[in-house]
Amino acid sequence: MTSDCHELGEIKMSRFLIYPLAKQVLAGIKETMSDQFGNEPKLEQAHSRRSICRRCLRRFNPGERRLLFKYRPFEREGVFAEAGPIYIHESDCQPEVEILTRYPDDFRELPLLLRAYTEQDGQVDSKLIKDGDAETIIDTFFADPKVAYIHLRDGESGCYYGRIERAESG
Ligand SMILES: [Zn+2]
Repeated sequence: MTSDCHELGEIKMSRFLIYPLAKQVLAGIKETMSDQFGNEPKLEQAHSRRSICRRCLRRFNPGERRLLFKYRPFEREGVFAEAGPIYIHESDCQPEVEILTRYPDDFRELPLLLRAYTEQDGQVDSKLIKDGDAETIIDTFFADPKVAYIHLRDGESGCYYGRIERAESG
């Protein structure tokens, strides 16, 4: 009885967490109509399902309105702390949950890459996701104690999508 419960608990436990863009960032952009670099966000329309909204972590549908602005997904300035263009829905979209505990199946056909960083934002390794199997690369990166977090990025443009951290057990 006890061991059954234990096994169930282990199956449900996530090995990693995926963080979308924090809603405070979004609120700041919409309030000031300026990104952290002083650019006015551009309003555009999605033409395909090729890209992902950084806030709700869902793929854009053609015709959906989105805001384009510049974002640096690092807390500190540094040699690897690149900033780049990102898109969010113009509407107040919400992620299904504030922290995702599994890799979305909807992302598996997109060309994406994973890039591992140290606690000091040093770049450790970067790998293209093959056949949608993100989990194998995430597990391999997190097996290295030097790796503190991973970025999910576009496999062609390198643009930032989200941040992945280890799920701390117990
Ligand atoms: Zn969205």
